[in-house]
Amino acid sequence: MTTAICNVCHGRGGPIEIECPDCGGTGYDLADEKPYAQCHTCYGDQTVEVEDCTACGGTGEVDVDADDNSNDESDDLDDVDDQ
Ligand SMILES: [Zn+2]
Ligand SMILES: [Zn+2]
Repeated sequence: MTTAICNVCHGRGGPIEIECPDCGGTGYDLADEKPYAQCHTCYGDQTVEVEDCTACGGTGEVDVDADDNSNDESDDLDDVDDQ
């Protein structure tokens, strides 16, 4: 397991602005009966400020599996199957 700088907060951890999760970054409240009603969470800003980065939990680092080396995963599975 290795860690990498979080690419959402760029290592800052927070507070940061993220795409509003309630409206998906549209700025509109999709659940509202009225079309194009302003999002109640971001008030149309499309982004919200959060204390802790939602991607890394505020640490500024994220755990990364070796995505570009998928052979590691299959090796682990083989070990289990042999038992
Ligand atoms: Zn982060
Ligand atoms: Zn919103």
